[in-house]
Amino acid sequence: MKIGIFGGTFDPVHLGHLRVAEEAREGLGLSEVWFIPAGTPPHKRDEPHLPFSLRFELVRLATRDHPAFRVLDLEGKRPDPSYTVQTLTELRGLYPEHEFFFILGLDAFLEIETWYRYRQLPELAHLVVVSRGDLPLSEAECRARELFPGKKIFFLPVTRLDISSTEIRRRLRAGLSVRYLVPDPVLEALKQFSGYNRSDAPGRD
Ligand code: ATP
Ligand code: MG
Repeated sequence: MKIGIFGGTFDPVHLGHLRVAEEAREGLGLSEVWFIPAGTPPHKRDEPHLPFSLRFELVRLATRDHPAFRVLDLEGKRPDPSYTVQTLTELRGLYPEHEFFFILGLDAFLEIETWYRYRQLPELAHLVVVSRGDLPLSEAECRARELFPGKKIFFLPVTRLDISSTEIRRRLRAGLSVRYLVPDPVLEALKQFSGYNRSDAPGRD
């Protein structure tokens, strides 16, 4: 099967993420998309965020109605920071029968040089770069030619939804609504605790 792998902090998951997964599934003819929330994200070590268990639960709630979406707790189980090359290597070992497509936004792709052993990535999975915000996808195509000469990389324009977890956290801290930015079950779950950066918020993982 062709499987999309969608990694992220998902702090919290939002409709931008879900639409990316859906358009990648359809655009590339993927059988399933597996969401993999990051454990302790290597690039965000200093940032306060929801514990893994809660970010994982929110992704589970967000994806449970979609028959082709799954969420894996692979990265939460590791004691060390999660690196994408490790995760993809592990998945290749567990599921040698599948063909993997690693989905990432253009903003993430433009930082890929900072990722641990990033040159190995195209050996482990097809890279799929989806559009995000103002940045032209052609910029990613240029960068891809420099970084991964001769490798086939997919560039997929997706419906532009300017939603980010950063903005959602900001709104929650300010006591503002995030309705229609996150799926309803996520909205309900976020109401169950007092939210990001309040005194009784859950600590970091
Ligand atoms: P933060 O603001 O905390 O960085 P985020 O909204 O960027 O959160 P991440 O969990 O960092 O969400 O993103 C996971 C992946 O999803 C990344 O590859 C990112 O580029 C992509 N992504 C997130 N939001 C969108 C969006 N609105 N449109 C396209 N891609 C997105
Ligand atoms: Mg991000």
